[in-house]
Amino acid sequence: MTESTENQFETGTVVYDPASDNVGEYQGTAGPYALLRPLGGGREWEARPESLRAATPGERLSAAVRAANSRSFQGASEPLSPAPVRDCAACADLAALRDDARARHDGSAETDADVLLRRHQRRYHAPLLGLREYALVPDVSAGAEYETSCTECRAGSGARQRPAEAEEWQQGHTRETGHARYRRTVADYAVLSSR
Ligand SMILES: [Zn+2]
Ligand SMILES: [Zn+2]
Repeated sequence: MTESTENQFETGTVVYDPASDNVGEYQGTAGPYALLRPLGGGREWEARPESLRAATPGERLSAAVRAANSRSFQGASEPLSPAPVRDCAACADLAALRDDARARHDGSAETDADVLLRRHQRRYHAPLLGLREYALVPDVSAGAEYETSCTECRAGSGARQRPAEAEEWQQGHTRETGHARYRRTVADYAVLSSR
């Protein structure tokens, strides 16, 4: 495809970038690329000028709604992508993956890395992110369960309510088979409750 002049946009024009499946404000060019800015503000990204077109009213609206939502969640000038948490190796890896995808202009790989990073952060950095934390409460309505299984033939006692019942099963199994080695587990139930 040859360079065309029909895709020159005025600064501030809201355009659609198919590579990132994103709508942004046209900021001008940087070398061979067009610079686009997210509607709510944030980090600019580079797009291929020849692939851009003016955004439809529907695209502009949903991008504006997204921008408003993310502003209310993270504060106006935050980039839309989560930042890695300091000294966390997993964050660093995922952020590197994302930055690498962004540098390659691989929008879907960038989104994938973003999703993984968000998921990781929700799971491991909830207090830092100001997300709701749940308290782990033992479920007293369901008692502990005792279970034992023979390591030689894999036969098992099934879940028993009392340790003595599991031991009784062991005694019987050894009498019958001569098997003498068991794996014992104790399980209990817990409920995550919001504080
Ligand atoms: Zn992390
Ligand atoms: Zn056995």
